[in-house]
Amino acid sequence: MKLNVLGCHGGELPTCRSTCFLVDDVLALDAGALTGTLSLEQLCKVDHILVGHSHFDHVKDLPLLADLVIGRRDKPVTIHASRECAKALRDNMFNNALWPDFTRIPTRAKPVLRIQSFRAGSTFEVGPYTVRSVPVSHPVESCGFIVSKGGAALAMSGDTGPTDKLWKALNETKNLKALLLEASFPNSLQPLADISGHLTPRTVASELQKFDRKGASVLLYHLKPAFVSQLKKELAGLPVEVLELGDTFEF
Ligand SMILES: [Zn+2]
Ligand SMILES: [Zn+2]
Repeated sequence: MKLNVLGCHGGELPTCRSTCFLVDDVLALDAGALTGTLSLEQLCKVDHILVGHSHFDHVKDLPLLADLVIGRRDKPVTIHASRECAKALRDNMFNNALWPDFTRIPTRAKPVLRIQSFRAGSTFEVGPYTVRSVPVSHPVESCGFIVSKGGAALAMSGDTGPTDKLWKALNETKNLKALLLEASFPNSLQPLADISGHLTPRTVASELQKFDRKGASVLLYHLKPAFVSQLKKELAGLPVEVLELGDTFEF
């Protein structure tokens, strides 16, 4: 699997982009940085988008993507979202008020977008990938994902505070090559991180104690743009790598 880091922050500034990863050019993990990073031709190749939860920094490019690729694809782009997240997208985004309902445009039979819901915790197929969803700890229903293909697995924590379910699932996963793990706020904002369901360098360190990593890389993302340099200082010394925009990996 090829992984391109399109966005690895928990927000946007000229030097930061919201969460978005691209697998093999066809599968996006979250949609925080699609339309500002990919060409129209590249956008048209994205067949599936896995959305971990409904928060804005993870879904913000879905409306603009729909508008760009309409009439340029044979099949709808499928958005895979947990039931709560799918409902939030239908009720609050593609509701004909904030944005048109692109799941019925241009026609109900051949729309540009399809929203496919899954039960948080279920395992399902997405094109050639097997995806295990794992509910994590966040104020809205949020899922981590373990994506497998061809004997290799790649995981993404989603937005989460301390959790046990994700580590249990990861420890059961064979051939896990890398874990994309969130790290949002500096240690001084631990109470804010706890109440908002996020990790700090301190809780990244304590969470990693639960991980039987067997050589997997731990790649950090979702750094809040206002705290990037502070976070990097506090993360130095941990057995992790902080992702940068444009990083690419082959697993
Ligand atoms: Zn977020
Ligand atoms: Zn969130």
